[in-house]
Amino acid sequence: MGLAARIIKPEPTEIFREMVHDEVDKWVDLIIDEVFKDGKEPTLSELSEVLSKTKQKFFGSCFQVLIEQKYSDLLTQQYADCPKCGKRCRKRRLGAKEMETLHGPSQIKRPWFYCLDCNHGFSPLDKVLELSRKKYQFDLQEKAVKTAAEVPFLKAGELFTDLTGQSVSDHFMHETFEQVGSQAQLKDIIPDKTEIEKRCREAKKGRWRPVLVVASDGAHMPTRPQSKRNEKRGKGKWQEAKGFRVYLLGKNRIIHIASWHQIQDEEQFGKDLSLVAGRIDSDQVRIALLGDGADWLWKHMTTCFPKGRQVLDYYHCAEHIHKVANVHYGQGTEQALEWVESTMCRLFYAEVTNVIRGLRNMKPTNDEAAEEIRKLIGYLNKNKKRIHYRGDRIGGYPIGSGGIESANKFICHTRMKRSGAWWVKETGNEMLRIRCSIYNGSYAKVFNRYKSNCLNGP
Ligand SMILES: [Zn+2]
Repeated sequence: MGLAARIIKPEPTEIFREMVHDEVDKWVDLIIDEVFKDGKEPTLSELSEVLSKTKQKFFGSCFQVLIEQKYSDLLTQQYADCPKCGKRCRKRRLGAKEMETLHGPSQIKRPWFYCLDCNHGFSPLDKVLELSRKKYQFDLQEKAVKTAAEVPFLKAGELFTDLTGQSVSDHFMHETFEQVGSQAQLKDIIPDKTEIEKRCREAKKGRWRPVLVVASDGAHMPTRPQSKRNEKRGKGKWQEAKGFRVYLLGKNRIIHIASWHQIQDEEQFGKDLSLVAGRIDSDQVRIALLGDGADWLWKHMTTCFPKGRQVLDYYHCAEHIHKVANVHYGQGTEQALEWVESTMCRLFYAEVTNVIRGLRNMKPTNDEAAEEIRKLIGYLNKNKKRIHYRGDRIGGYPIGSGGIESANKFICHTRMKRSGAWWVKETGNEMLRIRCSIYNGSYAKVFNRYKSNCLNGP
């Protein structure tokens, strides 16, 4: 563009600067009105409140000006090609779009086109801006859903408004959360192969291959059936959320790879675990499989990681030993304590057969003791090849699944087991998916999937 042309028509950047200056003046007027009139003496909090109250309007207007100047060509467009058939279409009207972003309310008037052949209405500006059809735009949706993953929906709406100055409805929070959650997929929630390899390299120490731990567990969650409006809620029941956590034992710390929890059957659990197994290069790591005694869990872990070293969780095992000690010798007695110590010591040295022999020779002091001893013998027999804690220690393997228990607590309990919270299974799973993605560092990917589905269709 020549010098002469620039003098006649100013650059959009210059117009933008001037218009924002005008908006600043309007904002300053608002502040002057609130602060300097009537001899008021506002406190710091009151001044802060004035800025909070007025800044959304100011930023919203600036945002609008920014769009208008950056995309001035699209706002004056007379013809556009139909995105479906490519036919040239003439502008029908200027359509107003009210929107809310993290920076407040804005409104844009942009040309609207309609292709008669395809019965398709479109706005090229919407496409460039990736506008959401909702009033609340994606920047705000992304943060709102993240907030709702941490606190109950009603609270989330309040908190969001308090912290951003941008009010959102409870309904919007709920609806958007369910939409993002229902489109969240395991393949996005679990880090990809390259990322997992990167974390494995981080954990490498000397010539030892790092230990990658696969720990599985079930946690019970309060669920209720879906009820229709104005209908009495159905009876609640506890259902098992099956989950696993995969992590690396680094030099002095645990390097998290992935957590996954869902209320689902064990077959689906197996499929999910095998997707994760497919992303792990088992030549780079030594694999430890950690779990309590549940059969379904071992079945899938060993199928997905046939080379994995199986370790029966030390603390679950100890719980069973304590149980027998308490019913046989009496809760908290010195005899009970002594027996637990010597038994755990023998198990530590992998003398499972000796412990079983000892149990067989015990003369139960009562019926309950007889029953618990019988159960413990079965448990130890079944898990014999998984009890070798001393060897685990020497090899740098884990013996306790504190890792999965803390993940369970963090992912399931803190948000799911609030008093009075009963989850419809689907919503509960959506919540778990989003919480896992936040914990795994993949929330942005999950949100982008939803966004791309909104813009382009699934
Ligand atoms: Zn068309």
